[in-house]
Amino acid sequence: MTAYAVREIEKVVEEAEAVAAEASVESTNMANSPACAHHWIIEPANGPVSQGQCQNCLEVRDFKNFVDAYHQDDN
Ligand SMILES: [Zn+2]
Repeated sequence: MTAYAVREIEKVVEEAEAVAAEASVESTNMANSPACAHHWIIEPANGPVSQGQCQNCLEVRDFKNFVDAYHQDDN
């Protein structure tokens, strides 16, 4: 039973490392691209607006915590 648990953990770690490697490659490619396909990491909502930062180009932007934010164009 213990051996089985260890094997499962190793499998999870391998998968996590594979995902991290892929993300790293993507991020590098995005950083070199003139038009960033933003990957926003947005803070938890604690008011009408949350601040988010793009993990690719580090641009910072405010995001409204309302449904109608979906209708706003981000140009
Ligand atoms: Zn970006």
